Amino acid sequence: MREIVIAGNWKMNTNPWEGAMLAREIAGLMTGGNGLSQVTVVVCPPATHLVMVVTTLSGSSVMVGAQNVHWDEKGAFTGEISADWVHFLGARWTIIGHSERRRWFGETDATVNGRLKRAIASGLRPIVCVGETLEEREAGKTFEVIERQIRVGLKEVALTGRGGIVIAYEPVWAIGTGRNATPAQAQEAHSFIRDLLGRLYHPDLAEATVIQYGGSVTAENAPALMPCPDVDGALVGGASLKLDQFMAIIHAAAAAKAAAR
Ligand code: PEP
Repeated sequence: MREIVIAGNWKMNTNPWEGAMLAREIAGLMTGGNGLSQVTVVVCPPATHLVMVVTTLSGSSVMVGAQNVHWDEKGAFTGEISADWVHFLGARWTIIGHSERRRWFGETDATVNGRLKRAIASGLRPIVCVGETLEEREAGKTFEVIERQIRVGLKEVALTGRGGIVIAYEPVWAIGTGRNATPAQAQEAHSFIRDLLGRLYHPDLAEATVIQYGGSVTAENAPALMPCPDVDGALVGGASLKLDQFMAIIHAAAAAKAAAR
């Protein structure tokens, strides 16, 4: 069975106290059984909150990630985030190439590749985001775009399967819009990604790689999305800020995993 990963991308939300409180509440609810231990849960607060959230979650199963790291070890990169220092603070994950970074901060497939390499070198587990815009989908270019993002984004990067790189399929038109991909659309894209990874690396490694779905995942649609055979959890934005929503998504993932046994 593949690992299931539910990650919360808090974006630039919560103040540090609110973030620590939310983290504590999630950790408190992760101890209740119900197969929850079968789900890997990660929260990705703003970089300014990492110390407080890592400290709050010490001793808990909930892990912490950054939302971005720079491709260089250190240096004259004002405003950027060092992967080494994210690791130093106790976070063990990072999102790479989120579409908001691509849209607002000039992120390209090449910079994604650099950031990914640095994240791995620094001992962080990356969640690499890929996904097409609405225009690209409507032009029939979904697979072409995803293939380019993966080929360039993962260039010269080894895939290690279990415990390694996570891919998040996040159609841009579904992020923050309340319009999620249907289970059929998600499954189609995930199966394409797994097949592509199989061709680029090895089918066994592709089979073991976690591919999350992201884009307006909620407590309401998670029960339909999580059982898709190639959907291995979710990268959750807005709903990860609401305790009951986030926990319901984790429960939906645990239930889908238990049913697949
Ligand atoms: C995201 O930020 O990665 C995301 C999927 O956001 P939302 O769930 O709000 O669409």
